[in-house]
Amino acid sequence: MAVIVQKYGGTSVGALDRIANVARRVSARKDQGNDLVVVVSAMAGETDRLINLAKEITPIPNEREMDMLVSTGEQVSIALLAITLESMGYKAKSYCGWQLPLTTDSAFGAARVTNIATDKISEDLANGVIVIIAGFQGVDENGSITTLGRGGSDTSAVAVAAGLKADLCEIYTDVDGVYTTDPNIVPEAKKIPSIAYEEMLEMASLGAKVLYIRAVEFAMRHKVPLIVRSSFNDNEGTLVTEESSDMENKSVRAVTCSTKEAKITFSGIPDVPGTASQLFGALAEANVIVDVIIQNSSEEGKTDISFTLPLADLDKGLEVCRGVREILGAEKLAGSKDVAKVSIIGLGMRSHSGVASRMFAALAREGINIEMISTSEIKISCVIQKKYAELAVRVLHDVFELEKPL
Ligand code: ASP
Ligand code: MG
Repeated sequence: MAVIVQKYGGTSVGALDRIANVARRVSARKDQGNDLVVVVSAMAGETDRLINLAKEITPIPNEREMDMLVSTGEQVSIALLAITLESMGYKAKSYCGWQLPLTTDSAFGAARVTNIATDKISEDLANGVIVIIAGFQGVDENGSITTLGRGGSDTSAVAVAAGLKADLCEIYTDVDGVYTTDPNIVPEAKKIPSIAYEEMLEMASLGAKVLYIRAVEFAMRHKVPLIVRSSFNDNEGTLVTEESSDMENKSVRAVTCSTKEAKITFSGIPDVPGTASQLFGALAEANVIVDVIIQNSSEEGKTDISFTLPLADLDKGLEVCRGVREILGAEKLAGSKDVAKVSIIGLGMRSHSGVASRMFAALAREGINIEMISTSEIKISCVIQKKYAELAVRVLHDVFELEKPL
């Protein structure tokens, strides 16, 4: 008998008939003799609706109260699923995060899981009960309800699976699995049968929306095997797991694109020690997450520094930069929303040569200018003009032959 943790996202529980669909899937696995723990998100659109309600009152609502508010979405869906399963003749019991408890730090809106108590879950499972757990929420050491960040139900599911040492954690969503790129941009994109945690981590941080990055980190740390699949069909999904040698056969396994990027450029900064430290120190203090950074070689003692940051943080970033501009003695400061970041990802990059040059040549052939480049062992990212984002994705998918089976 296996212990299976399943997570269903907002669209999968977005209406009563969809909850009934989830209940049928859960009960079918239960009937096969498995122990089932189900983590659910709020009904589609509910979290946004709650956030908007608060923002009608004030633009910056109290953070503790925000978590108190938005965590209610999940409480509704767990109860509805439990009621449905009970009405079908199954034993089911739902829990909010605090009832387990799933403990977190006190970073409201982006809390990190610190522990999960599994004794209640185990006891219920031993009694044949299907356990249903509210995703996205936990409780801090003061007893305040916290939430794990948007999309955080994935993390809840992985935490539950790790705590229970479950045999499998299935993430049900509205897509069939992890694709070589966004099929909306490239219809020939292929589903990837299995992908390494490291690759998935890069993909999640580089714009692939299918899994929440902290969930992948957690799964990697605790070696929880994840399957991403659709709740609307029975297609096999994508297994996210430890790397295996066949994953290196291809140099590149996926192309991602993020258009939620912005760029800030300082020109004519005196090239003296401490400049970068002052600038990025000030940004860090303001919690602005900086991504790609380039500094030109200096000419006549002056240099330029550019960096990218999340589009949502552009205003905050510019404000910090205006604050330090005088201290740095910069001639010019400019912000731009007209950027996108395209990336290629694959474990095989470690053993194949010439990957970067093929990427740059493909972009050059289309007349796409590369403004910035950043690399890691298993990814190469280029910052380009936003209007070329989809074209870049298409040509890179084509050049690295991702439409062909792995
Ligand atoms: N309901 C939360 C959100 O919309 C958490 C989740 O869906 O994973 O972000
Ligand atoms: Mg969601």
